[in-house]
Amino acid sequence: MLPRADAVATLASESFDVLVIGGGITGAGVALDAATRGYSVALVERADFAGGTSSRSSKLVHGGLRYLQNFDLGLVREALVERQINVNLAPHLVRPLRFVVPAFDGQRLDRVMGVGLNAYDVMGLRRRRTRAELDWSPARHRVISGADVRELLPALADRSPTSGYLFYDCQTDDARLVLTVLTEAERFGAVAANRLEAIGLLEERGRAAGALVRDAESGAELEVRAANVVNATGVWADRLRPAELHDEAEVPVIRPARGTHLLLERDTLPVDAGAIVPAGEGRAIFVLPWLGQTLIGTTDTDHDGPAEHVRPSEEEIAYLLDAVNAYFATSLTASDLVGAYAGVRPLISTGDPRKSVDISRKAELYETSSGMVTITGGKLTTWRRMAKDTVDRIAWRDGSEVPCRTHEVPLGLPLGAGELPDAPSREHLAARYGHLAHDVLALGHAEPIVPGRPDLLAEVAYAARREQARTLGDVLLRRTRLGLTAARALLAPGAGVLERVADVLGTELGWDARRREREVEAFRFEAEQEGILPAP
Ligand SMILES: Cc1cc2nc3c(=O)[nH]c(=O)nc-3n(C[C@H](O)[C@H](O)[C@H](O)COP(=O)(O)OP(=O)(O)OC[C@H]3O[C@@H](n4cnc5c(N)ncnc54)[C@H](O)[C@@H]3O)c2cc1C
Repeated sequence: MLPRADAVATLASESFDVLVIGGGITGAGVALDAATRGYSVALVERADFAGGTSSRSSKLVHGGLRYLQNFDLGLVREALVERQINVNLAPHLVRPLRFVVPAFDGQRLDRVMGVGLNAYDVMGLRRRRTRAELDWSPARHRVISGADVRELLPALADRSPTSGYLFYDCQTDDARLVLTVLTEAERFGAVAANRLEAIGLLEERGRAAGALVRDAESGAELEVRAANVVNATGVWADRLRPAELHDEAEVPVIRPARGTHLLLERDTLPVDAGAIVPAGEGRAIFVLPWLGQTLIGTTDTDHDGPAEHVRPSEEEIAYLLDAVNAYFATSLTASDLVGAYAGVRPLISTGDPRKSVDISRKAELYETSSGMVTITGGKLTTWRRMAKDTVDRIAWRDGSEVPCRTHEVPLGLPLGAGELPDAPSREHLAARYGHLAHDVLALGHAEPIVPGRPDLLAEVAYAARREQARTLGDVLLRRTRLGLTAARALLAPGAGVLERVADVLGTELGWDARRREREVEAFRFEAEQEGILPAP
């Protein structure tokens, strides 16, 4: 990506066809779609790219088997099509993941689940015939033996599973997906900068003509001029420009719903496939292998209060651990966790008092009187489709006939780990960066950030130079995911990990010794606010 200072200078001096407000997956997708159709595109993000919900998901690129229960067939079908497109466009970053639903003690497999999986298979059948020989297409679900279940879910060994269903979905690193989509958008000429908050719309003859933006680093205000403005601020979408929105009764209201996830060392709860774990009252949670650790989630509760720095609550942690302990016959406690995070879903409230789990995950696109187009709701999985609908709307207003191309625009270039020098981190680097892993390695710093984890100090330098990382939080929570997978090791007193990261980042960003100390303290404060290391 462009260095931030250059991006800010360009945003202030040029005028654009499209300004996107919000640098989560939705905004990144809109920027990519518009740029690939030939529009000049600006994107401003108030905090950090993917700093909102898009770094806090369950990391699944999936149809959502459970939405079948609600007969939300259109949503599931659309998401399954998007799943296939995502895995084909970014095979290094969006990867098939096996899921297992076991039966125990010789019991029969759940028939209703079997019917659901049949429907899921049919709906997920490959529809796009282009590039067919290259395309991933999931195998149909099948029944596997108890021994196969134990091999895929070693954590279940003590419960003696006797058979199981095996089916496929996909998984990603959500924040890396955002950065990859943004990088691609820039390749097509989009200009994006973080730490720029839209604080008001610019208007010309009653039409939105850009935004007044505050630079959180310098405190300066600047105008970003654009013929079209897209509000892609997720859970904050109904806060942008309240005066206009409050006048318009038809505008949907966001109903935030919080979800918490926990991480454990793989050896503490070893799984090599996803497990769907009952969690009481007909609900279920996932236990997933992710970045070499085990990810547990999610809860789903109404959220009151600010949506920034959402913390996992003690009740949510207890709820997830209780479900896991009951299912795997373990006795895990909060002291076993290596990290945790919470996020807030941008669900659209229809005024229906039902609980958020029952509200559909559909996206909403609406245009208010100034012409600003708002796109919110939806899922990580359906980002491309949401972006297409948004830019279709702008193109329709313009009378432009350039069609959407994002289904055929690769997201980075995949790379086999064997093409990198032989080193323990090469699988990890190839999966995270694809071909750009060569550029990461070229920066030197081949030592791990946290001993035993594959993330390298070179990634810190790369994040600063090529991905607009400005703080330790940017590097540890989103460019790498060590703040989630290894929070305990990062924050251990005297470990010196944060200081090492601050040294590499500080060298890139020109920080003196005092600034480095302040930034380490700022990260400790952020980690506390985010609750990434729950109290034992
Ligand atoms: C717990 C949980 C689990 C989930 N799991 C999955 C899953 O497994 N699979 C799936 O497909 N989906 C999942 N989702 C849904 C998915 O994560 C979201 O739908 C998606 O990330 C929303 O992206 P977004 O870009 O719309 O919002 P965000 O990622 O929140 O982006 C909005 C951005 O706008 C910025 N912003 C706000 N106001 C301003 C302003 N005034 N100026 C500039 N910028 C501003 C914010 O800082 C933020 O970065 C999950 C969600 C949650 C909460």
